Amino acid sequence: MKLRGVIHVHSRISYDGHESIARLAEFFRGLGYDFMCMTEHSDGLTPTQMQRIVDECAEVTKDSFVAVPGVEFSCRQRLHILGIGVTEPVDSHDPVPVAQHIRAHGGAVILAHPCAYGAENPDELAVHLHGIEIWNQPKDGKLGPGWKPLKLWKRWRALNPQLRAVGALDLHRLDSPSSLGIEISVANRNPAAIIAALKNGPVKIRGPWVSLSGEHYPGVFGELKLAAMSKGYNALRSLRDALGRH
Ligand SMILES: [Zn+2]
Ligand SMILES: [Zn+2]
Repeated sequence: MKLRGVIHVHSRISYDGHESIARLAEFFRGLGYDFMCMTEHSDGLTPTQMQRIVDECAEVTKDSFVAVPGVEFSCRQRLHILGIGVTEPVDSHDPVPVAQHIRAHGGAVILAHPCAYGAENPDELAVHLHGIEIWNQPKDGKLGPGWKPLKLWKRWRALNPQLRAVGALDLHRLDSPSSLGIEISVANRNPAAIIAALKNGPVKIRGPWVSLSGEHYPGVFGELKLAAMSKGYNALRSLRDALGRH
């Protein structure tokens, strides 16, 4: 069956999150989503809080809706790596050992907002990832994926042909919700099946106006369209910033 869900969601367990997991589950279930993947910041996360993520996700998981626990690991080189399905702490801040830690605990490894904060993206990381956010809503806007993350995905697919592209909400509060989600195919509606689909299954990115495959890089015309949308978004943002300064 096909499931629609959102990934990269922060609750108030994260130092900068504002909502409870119960409230988020109610909200996304109300929008017709089947699942949400929590990714709480590793910064300052205590073992008690890690257990809370697991317990609260289990509490809100019902037949019709699944909450998957997870952590967004802060790494060196200004990289953030999502470990979906993993709440075990790791000693390292180096991206490759962190990715290996997530894999060793059965999680899906997704590189978050790869081109934000002046992050460096070492090529040796590519083979350790299951997915890469080509579209992070706060960083890339609601129109379409970011141009730089899209090109990075293209380049890294040569190093890791299994690398999937995803779109992520990176949500911290519910005042600016959007409908950027993903669609996956699963045999069962449970956390393990959702994690397995994020690792190995087909993924489709569904934005408010654009849908695109997470497996196949767009053709020439698709790429042109996405480039235009990304440039349009950046131009609008520059204009907004310029107006905001006066
Ligand atoms: Zn982040
Ligand atoms: Zn985040």
